[in-house]
Amino acid sequence: MSPPIPKDSDEHFGFRRWRAFAEALPIALLIGVFYWFFDAWIHSALTGRDFRALAFAPVPVDLTPRILVLLGALVVTVLNRVLRNERRRSLLMRFAVDHAGDAVLIVREDARILYANEAAAAHFGYPREELLEMGVTDLDPGYGTAVWPRHWRELRERRVMRLETFHRKRGGELRAVEVTARFLRFRDLELNCAFIRDISERKKAEQDLRKEEERVRSLLESTGEGIIGVDAGGLCTFVNPTALAILGYSKAEEMLGKDAHALVHHSRPDGSPLPRSECRALAALERKAGIHVDGDVFWRQDGRSFEVEYRLHPILREGKTVGGVYAFSDVSERKKSERELRETAAKLREANRLKDLFTDILRHDLMNPAAAVRSSAQLLSRIEDDPRKSKLVANILRSSDNLIELCENAARYARGAGPQALDFVERDLCALIERSIRDLEPQMREREVRIRFDRPATCGAELNPVIVDVFSNLISNAVKYGPKGGEIGIALEDEGEAWVVSVSDQGEGIPDEHKTRIFSRFERLEKQGVKGSGLGLAIAKQLVDLHSGAIWVEDGPGGGSIFRVRLPKRIPTPLRAAG
Ligand code: ADP
Repeated sequence: MSPPIPKDSDEHFGFRRWRAFAEALPIALLIGVFYWFFDAWIHSALTGRDFRALAFAPVPVDLTPRILVLLGALVVTVLNRVLRNERRRSLLMRFAVDHAGDAVLIVREDARILYANEAAAAHFGYPREELLEMGVTDLDPGYGTAVWPRHWRELRERRVMRLETFHRKRGGELRAVEVTARFLRFRDLELNCAFIRDISERKKAEQDLRKEEERVRSLLESTGEGIIGVDAGGLCTFVNPTALAILGYSKAEEMLGKDAHALVHHSRPDGSPLPRSECRALAALERKAGIHVDGDVFWRQDGRSFEVEYRLHPILREGKTVGGVYAFSDVSERKKSERELRETAAKLREANRLKDLFTDILRHDLMNPAAAVRSSAQLLSRIEDDPRKSKLVANILRSSDNLIELCENAARYARGAGPQALDFVERDLCALIERSIRDLEPQMREREVRIRFDRPATCGAELNPVIVDVFSNLISNAVKYGPKGGEIGIALEDEGEAWVVSVSDQGEGIPDEHKTRIFSRFERLEKQGVKGSGLGLAIAKQLVDLHSGAIWVEDGPGGGSIFRVRLPKRIPTPLRAAG
């Protein structure tokens, strides 16, 4: 219901007539009494009668003039009082409105300004006299002449309106304002009494606040962690998109207002219910403390659980918990990797133990017979005269030397002495490759395989003899996995800083998805009828790594595989053997 319109200011401000009367009465009585005695004195002077008799006799003379004077004095004094009060009041009102803190305009139906107080003049930047020459349509771009009549009709209907608009100050600056417009009817005039408050600062503060909220919101929304805000009772008040995605909800409304514990933390990892009284997170909230848990589970909407790492921070206001914030991540993958890592570490420890055992066997059970063969061969070489037999003995000597050197190196490497213990000496790479070829001759003869080795004139590099194993493995694989009667090509390419040795065969080749896998231990592809351990290439890779080199496999242009080994000609200083 719209408020009534005050008819005019008399009624609105409310005269206190009885009070003016009460104020005037003693003065009027005083005048009346004075006139009474004055009249008695005049009569006594004119008639010679006794003054006292005239003044105090009950009805000594005609009373009419005295009563008339008394009443007249009363009326005049009352009127004087009333008018003076009214004038003072209206001056006071005017003064108060003129100096009011808010800008005040009184506006006519035709939008012209009838009154503007000092604050209004300061607000618009015009002197008051100039404002009275203007209309609202000049000052408010939102209420131009086309809009004003409609606005006036609406104001007349609603009586009071509060609206936000912009005022143009002198000089053109626009200020955001809040206007409280009140429709008044003063005698035959329709008026709008508008109180104007400059809200530019407030608007700017609101805008800054909105921007800040926006920034915080977008930060929360773009973070990789799931974030759930809860109130003091544990009900969800905020959920970011990451949390929705991890938990399998499509919109925040599905979670907002619901109990976070019942939604995501209701059961233990084994599926048994987790009562609220046993929930560590809720207990922490009660203690007003934060908590970090790595190794719990949260539950998705579809009933599946996932391993979670979460932090819960309480939100405190005046020492009281008013809510909390869960920040969580799905760590299922990480936990799986950690488990695998632990298993691998256990396997490695076992493998290491076996390796030590093997090393001991290598040193005692292989080196000792090899040393016995060599000393016997040395003795034989001294006493043998037959040149054919001497050549064979020389072969035995050379092979046993190689065998002992290899065993020593392998044992040293396997012992974990590390690459530092291996010595890298300038050696002829081609001679080492040829040694591998010679060692594999029986195998090649059996498979009727030919070798084509394009060796350059010089091919020196800092190498350790264990590198022979790499070539032996590659050539042996080419023989095993290539066709019977096929050809193996060995080539060397000078890259300046390094040599690249290529071993190519005419076998079936290796599918792309296995090209990296075969360099891992115990990785074998399905090769029917070919014996192997799946260790050769893994060891080859380790030995190449020791030389700071690289090993990889490519497809041959006409089928088959090409294994390539890059070996730097100079070994980086930290890897060289000390001394
Ligand atoms: P092994 O030969 O003892 O099985 P390797 O580590 O030497 O072990 O080789 C790993 C796997 O890589 C082999 O089982 C084989 O499937 C594949 N492979 C190696 N060399 C070749 C090759 N030249 N042609 C085709 N497959 C090969």
